[in-house]
Amino acid sequence: MTLTRTTCPYCGVGCGVLAGADGTIKGDPDHPANFGRLCSKGAALGETIDLDGRLLHPKVNGVRTNWDSALDLVASNFSAAIAEHGPESVAFYASGQLLTEDYYVANKLMKGFIGAANMDTNSRLCMASSVAGHKRAFGTDTVPGTYRDLEEADLIVLVGSNLAWCHPVLYQRIAAAKEARPNMRIVNIDPRRTATSDLADLHLSIAPDGDVALFNGLLAHLAEAGRIDANYATAHVNGLAEAVTTAKDTDVADTGLNAPELAAFFDLWARTDKVVTVYSQGVNQSQSGTDKVNAILNCHLATGRIGKPGCGPFSVTGQPNAMGGREVGGLANMLANHLDIADPDHRAAVQAFWDSPTICTTPGLKAVDLFAACAAGKIKALWIMSTNPAVSLPDSDGVAAAIANVPFVVTSDMLEATDTNDLAHVLLPAAGWGEKDGTVTNSERRISRQRAFLETPGEARADWRIISDVAARMGFADAFAYRKPADIFAEYVALDAALSAFPRDLDLSIFADADYANLIPTQWPQDDKRFFADGQFYHPDGKARMVPVTSPALSQPRFALNTGRNRDQWHTMTRTGKSARLGAHLAEPYLEINPCDAVELGAGPGAILKVESPFGSALLRALITDRAPQGQLFAPMHWTRQRTTSGTINSLTAPDVDPVSGQPALKSGGVTATVFGAT
Ligand code: SF4
Repeated sequence: MTLTRTTCPYCGVGCGVLAGADGTIKGDPDHPANFGRLCSKGAALGETIDLDGRLLHPKVNGVRTNWDSALDLVASNFSAAIAEHGPESVAFYASGQLLTEDYYVANKLMKGFIGAANMDTNSRLCMASSVAGHKRAFGTDTVPGTYRDLEEADLIVLVGSNLAWCHPVLYQRIAAAKEARPNMRIVNIDPRRTATSDLADLHLSIAPDGDVALFNGLLAHLAEAGRIDANYATAHVNGLAEAVTTAKDTDVADTGLNAPELAAFFDLWARTDKVVTVYSQGVNQSQSGTDKVNAILNCHLATGRIGKPGCGPFSVTGQPNAMGGREVGGLANMLANHLDIADPDHRAAVQAFWDSPTICTTPGLKAVDLFAACAAGKIKALWIMSTNPAVSLPDSDGVAAAIANVPFVVTSDMLEATDTNDLAHVLLPAAGWGEKDGTVTNSERRISRQRAFLETPGEARADWRIISDVAARMGFADAFAYRKPADIFAEYVALDAALSAFPRDLDLSIFADADYANLIPTQWPQDDKRFFADGQFYHPDGKARMVPVTSPALSQPRFALNTGRNRDQWHTMTRTGKSARLGAHLAEPYLEINPCDAVELGAGPGAILKVESPFGSALLRALITDRAPQGQLFAPMHWTRQRTTSGTINSLTAPDVDPVSGQPALKSGGVTATVFGAT
């Protein structure tokens, strides 16, 4: 059996995979992300490539049609909406499952040819707060960390990240490094005690949204202990004094931690030079997400613990290609190639390169606002690509109603029956993992190839081709005359070269003469170049910014609902749900609840609890565990309406967002819980 070198389609670790059409799956020993390792999800990929449930033909209003008719209908409806209501009346909602080439083409069509910026993505749920925090601190959305830094660090601080389940191969690499270097210390900051906590020397069960208070407390401690690197800060950082003053005013009681716990963490951080702070959705998915990110970055900038081996802040992405989407500008507040919509010179340069008739001039609608605009009747044509917002967005019942309110809805998806597809007028069959070709970028900026090793089933087509075919029918044939993904990648790299006059971190010059077919996994700007090693950042004066941030007012609901992932499932289970082996881990929806809370509610083991919020309700089996702190509940978000009749988790979550990043808060919403059937 010939094995094809490709990349795992799940998390942002971006592991290399050797895959065969017979379902053979092996870790790629030569891939620098995983060196042959795979987690349970990656190892089971071969069990998920059957055609059960696949959308194999275009459909209009539930009736099979041919591609030409479907594409004509999509193009004519989008064109009509734009002509009658303006470019802001149409929207794309994309996915971190899209390949970079797909993202590039969709972004180009929306921003350069339709002339609006209403293209957002489920990556808004993943890392938007990190993007916003990076831009405030560094002047660009730069992720400076690499996986090797984790192995070289003396202290790894894992904040709001259950790495053991959500980025398992990275966790394996850290565990191996800790075994090899017993002096390495790990701190896990998470309200829950998770599988990740089991590796930690110190687990801090922080109060929900206590992160700003914790890192402000750390900054104040560093200042008081004389651990600020004044020489570094003077030369390379603005805002130190203001940030420290604000930090000193912070009440560390907001962390919910006791004095010995705080002292242990502060002291360990202060006396360890090589510190990496890894953060994920517990930081990002919060109404104070961007401030949390900057509170973390402030500590690294104040001490010069950035730009050196084994040092720095490190945001790890959830989606396999969240980073690729960021690179090409596939978010409503970005232009392309790390340029800004707000800058007229940036807009002119991108428009000139694309030779496009127009260019967006203002940011578009971010995910939650986009669906609110659908509910308000402002969006007349909506195209949802490779994602299921009717389940995955907060207030999912409200989002489903909003989609149903749009006069013309298109989805392009692998699957036929999803909660979102059920609301669409046109279904376009998209090629899936193993069938499509392109590139993805992982959390350490490494671009790898996804390669096809399966026949494309039925009439399914690659996303980039579907988008290009619609663009051609909207009158833009010349600009979208791509014949293969390599053409798009080459254009993307050429655009980057054309933008070289603008100071940016993104630099794709290493790919200028790349052999696309045989592209080996490569980091930009180039393997082993370390961002910020020279102390230069991307604000006009070359300095970084420390942002003074204040701890948010914390609410005290009876129960705070935390949501997240299981070890063996991926998002709405469209792929992992096919594997009986993976399903055996945790087979049904559940609710983690502390034993004291269970006693108070009168809930015994296996009791069914009714959880309610102002947005909906769900019935969930109690999993009584002291891993859940008192007053806090946890539920995984994987089960769709089609997999459970008891209510989806996001029917409970509120559409509250971080005001800077627009990222939804999915970790601490207020709910009530009662034993179902109790009188
Ligand atoms: Fe796939 Fe992530 Fe597991 Fe690697 S760690 S095999 S990328 S799910």
